[in-house]
Amino acid sequence: MEKEDLRSLDHEQLHKLITDLGEKKYRADQIFQWLHVKGANSLDEMTNVPAALKDRIRQTHEIHMLQTEKVLKSEIDDTRKYLFSLHDGNVIESVFMRYEHGNSVCISSQVGCNMGCRFCASTIDGKARDLSAGEMLAQIYMIMRETGEKISNVVVMGSGEPLENYVNLLQFIRMLTDEHGLHISQRNLTVSTCGLVDKIRSLADEKFQLTLAISLHAATDEKRRDLMPIANRFGLDELIPACAYYFDQTGRRITFEYALIKGENDSDRDASDLSALIRGLNCHVNLIPVNPVTERNYQQPYKTAVLAFKNKLEKNHINVTIRREMGRDISGACGQLRRSFSAHFQ
Ligand code: SAH
Repeated sequence: MEKEDLRSLDHEQLHKLITDLGEKKYRADQIFQWLHVKGANSLDEMTNVPAALKDRIRQTHEIHMLQTEKVLKSEIDDTRKYLFSLHDGNVIESVFMRYEHGNSVCISSQVGCNMGCRFCASTIDGKARDLSAGEMLAQIYMIMRETGEKISNVVVMGSGEPLENYVNLLQFIRMLTDEHGLHISQRNLTVSTCGLVDKIRSLADEKFQLTLAISLHAATDEKRRDLMPIANRFGLDELIPACAYYFDQTGRRITFEYALIKGENDSDRDASDLSALIRGLNCHVNLIPVNPVTERNYQQPYKTAVLAFKNKLEKNHINVTIRREMGRDISGACGQLRRSFSAHFQ
């Protein structure tokens, strides 16, 4: 039987494990700190924990290691892309970004993805499996160890659909923001979804103070269905009210991600439709010139078209920014590093 990942246990669960073994609670605190503050990757590193206790823990638990397979460093802005292998041989991507307001890590929530968005490289081979809470956290810890720097912001915007991995995502959020762990503020966490309406509503009920980003990419159901299969399951008439509900429950402004694709969703009409769709909603639009994926035939609009789209939204009193491109020289769309690695080693 596969042993459970010690890093996926939250503070309370670890307490229970340790006290059930007849040990004092503070031992659990020590181990939690090793795992979630010091970024330990093995029980051996935990020098103040008795060997006998470690042996007993090893009978039922192990620490699922991530191994750094590759790091790409941008010469322009020090953005770094990491390729990690998991204990079962799967590989995932994470990104480190340096901003004026602090360092940010973008993590994956699944190995691959099942959502099938037409412009996304992560989904081309489907989903291999969900990531555990420990594996989501470990991406951040590995990057902290590697860079020796503090991380203040986390975005769940790498490969995978986080709301399809809902239980593990919630465990991850609680552990990431736990005062005994990294203690990242909920306000410094962003979770991005392609629009699983039922899960958006459940997340709203949790009343976390995190930012919810919705991958919208089109302002009509017809156009959205062409780009994103999820639109067949949930129409905009359900998605937009769920976003309003999220704001009502949490007071947190929604971010809409809109990847501009030449000739697909970048016209003046598209900008009008988008303005009408989200009018009155407390939100912000992030325009992203689409990242070309070799396997797909989508292109970025000309700069003038991107600016015209932005201007139109502004005229309609919509908050809008054009996403700053990080790590231009190592960019490649989400999931492409993993794909090139998998292709090479299979
Ligand atoms: N499944 C989640 C999170 C992962 S995708 C979601 O859909 O939001 C993270 C973001 O990258 C999403 O907004 C997604 O639509 C966007 N994205 C994926 N491929 C892209 C590409 N080629 N160009 C620009 N954005 C892309």
